[in-house]
Amino acid sequence: MLLTVTTTHQPATDLGYLLHKHPDRVQSFSQSFGTVTVFYPESTDERCTAALMLDVDPVRLARSRGKNTPDFSLAQYVNDRSYAASSLLGVAMADVFSTARSGRCRSRQDLADSAIPLEIAVPVLPCRGGAEVAHRLFGPLGWTVEAEPIPLDEAFPEWGDSRYVRLRLTGVVRLADALNQLYVLLPVLDESKHYWQGPDEIDKLMRSGEGWLATHPEADLITRRYLGRQGVLTRVALARLAELGDDVEGAIAPAEDEDVLQPAERRVPLNAQRHEAVQQLLLELRARSVIDLGCGAGQLLDRLVTTPSFTRIAGSDVSTRSLQHAARRLHVDRMSERQAERVQLFQGALTYEDERYSGYDAAVLMEVVEHIDPPRLGALERVVFGTAKPGAVIVTTPNAEYNMRYEGLVGMRHPDHRFEWTRDQFAEWSDRVAATYGYAVERRGIGDLDDVVGAPTQMAVFTTKEGAND
Ligand code: SAH
Repeated sequence: MLLTVTTTHQPATDLGYLLHKHPDRVQSFSQSFGTVTVFYPESTDERCTAALMLDVDPVRLARSRGKNTPDFSLAQYVNDRSYAASSLLGVAMADVFSTARSGRCRSRQDLADSAIPLEIAVPVLPCRGGAEVAHRLFGPLGWTVEAEPIPLDEAFPEWGDSRYVRLRLTGVVRLADALNQLYVLLPVLDESKHYWQGPDEIDKLMRSGEGWLATHPEADLITRRYLGRQGVLTRVALARLAELGDDVEGAIAPAEDEDVLQPAERRVPLNAQRHEAVQQLLLELRARSVIDLGCGAGQLLDRLVTTPSFTRIAGSDVSTRSLQHAARRLHVDRMSERQAERVQLFQGALTYEDERYSGYDAAVLMEVVEHIDPPRLGALERVVFGTAKPGAVIVTTPNAEYNMRYEGLVGMRHPDHRFEWTRDQFAEWSDRVAATYGYAVERRGIGDLDDVVGAPTQMAVFTTKEGAND
């Protein structure tokens, strides 16, 4: 089975740097189920193609059989594995191009961070649900999709199409994103069991889906299929997707947890409800200048920029990768001069004083405090409420009591959370902070209110007596 990646970015041979595989060499890598060969059928300054060929060894595949290996059920020896791209190709690709997938490239970091013209071809791809599914999965990611059904037998057209397609994707995409998308979507398209199992599979999905999965209209389908329809894992993954902003440290934006939790018509993801609630509140507060502290990948900022009454908007985060995502989302590189003056992004840690945090009508700390180590929380309070002193501060954080409504969720909603507060704990914290720094505070819930455990997200609104300070 074969997958090719082509670029016409010039010099095209830079693809070798991005993939960490030299264009003049043919290299082979052994996998538990076969051998991968990487070679470049063409490599000129104008156009360069890397090919990844996987030779599946059916005997090795069968011998490596265990509960964690693919294809352990039927047809171990007689199957399409040697010929059709599948989850095995995804696994092999992920392994051989692991550095490229992480987006790191010491010698060409700028290029690794940039969207470049790419063509990806998979000549034989099993496509559960037919060519239309390939369009639904790759189309929203900005690819032009050609998925041509392959006839079952050319000699007998009346037999109709096989379940395979010839896939060709063209687009201007960051290479790491393209590889991560393939890593997730090849097994999603594949009929047969994916090479997986175990709770870390959710982490893999979160990492590979970073920046694109959460906002994908088919996030639900992708998650279900990727996790092999394992109900509990799927529910946990969807809850985590819904919970997190699509920021970078493993946190991704929304999907439909409640789709699963309360099987009903499609619902607004919790993450989107949070953005909506915060935006409405900023309008109610008549804030004109707003800073989003710990803005992650900039989803809230993306909303704020489309609202003209916000005349000055800033986002800051400790993670430069998150800020890169935010810059891309906001198209900072294509902003008019006026817009660029209106919107600012900068890196900073909220536990250190920084004058750039000052001078805003309102500051937002959305799903951020729970990422701070408790001994450092006092520093954040001083920096935000004591020094930056915005006219209003909006804080959102998970309501730990609600976690029992996420079936299958054990522990906290995200591995980076240092704590999750009950409603009493949040009330106590916010009352103390308000009293210490001279703010009034009011609390509200976001998301579906449960009679017993409250709403999934809790929000506190701190306002100064004077109101806006700008
Ligand atoms: N506010 C966004 C992102 C929440 S995820 C949203 O709701 O979608 C938490 C964010 O806080 C991450 O982007 C993380 O990088 C950031 N963060 C964590 N600790 C921080 C610190 N000490 N200073 C600034 N940002 C921090």
